[in-house]
Amino acid sequence: MISYFKFKKSYPNTSYKKYFMNNIKYNFKKFIRIPYCCYMCIKYPFLYPRNRFNGLHYNNWKIQNFLITLVNKYNVSKFGGEAENHELTDLEKETFKKNLYYFKEISSHMIVGWTNWWAKPLHTIVQFYHYYILQFFHCIPTSTEWDCMEMGWKKAFGKQYLDELKEAAIKDGYLKSLRIMQLKEKWGRCQLYLNMYGDNVFKVIQKYEDLSWNTCIKCGKPATHTSRGWISPYCEDCVNKDNPDRSIKRGTEEEKEMFL
Ligand SMILES: [Zn+2]
Repeated sequence: MISYFKFKKSYPNTSYKKYFMNNIKYNFKKFIRIPYCCYMCIKYPFLYPRNRFNGLHYNNWKIQNFLITLVNKYNVSKFGGEAENHELTDLEKETFKKNLYYFKEISSHMIVGWTNWWAKPLHTIVQFYHYYILQFFHCIPTSTEWDCMEMGWKKAFGKQYLDELKEAAIKDGYLKSLRIMQLKEKWGRCQLYLNMYGDNVFKVIQKYEDLSWNTCIKCGKPATHTSRGWISPYCEDCVNKDNPDRSIKRGTEEEKEMFL
């Protein structure tokens, strides 16, 4: 939550009270979901939320930004190649700042020398705080990857998907270490990105990718239409609400031209 003065500077015509109350409501909702999220993560360990770039529970970009600024003041070797020590050019500094998730690489491999005695200990302390203390406080889940599944798919096959995935992970022998890094709708299909794949898990994922393509994204009925532009499967009833004249009926010549 940002302060009153910062808020008024950015949004002079919006009520701070409203913003404040909405924030309280949002956090309260997050708070009361904790038992449900814990239950889901215990039942289906692969739903436990992780940051998809670094595998941590929580990412404080401000801290990472601070560390990068600190690191950029010192000698850093170039990406790849033999460790050729050099000062970063301005362009490289900008690139590092923009791609914050490269930070891990920068911190563990890239620092080749510190010119101030205090820089290294400070870096170590901040990193310890970031990797251990913050992680400890943020290990309680307020969301799971399951939240990202479309409503219609959840209704049609959501729980069944989770059960089959769990079974497959047990068969492949890595239920405890399997994590969903990302779950999303892409090209009208339910896509899952995992930290590891086995034969059984892979089969389940493929099965539900195909099934989701044939299931309405809104209500879970069998899909009869495909929307244009943002491609999604829809049933007869829902397609008119979302895409009045921008959809293609399935099984027609038009569809063949578009998708085959
Ligand atoms: Zn529908």
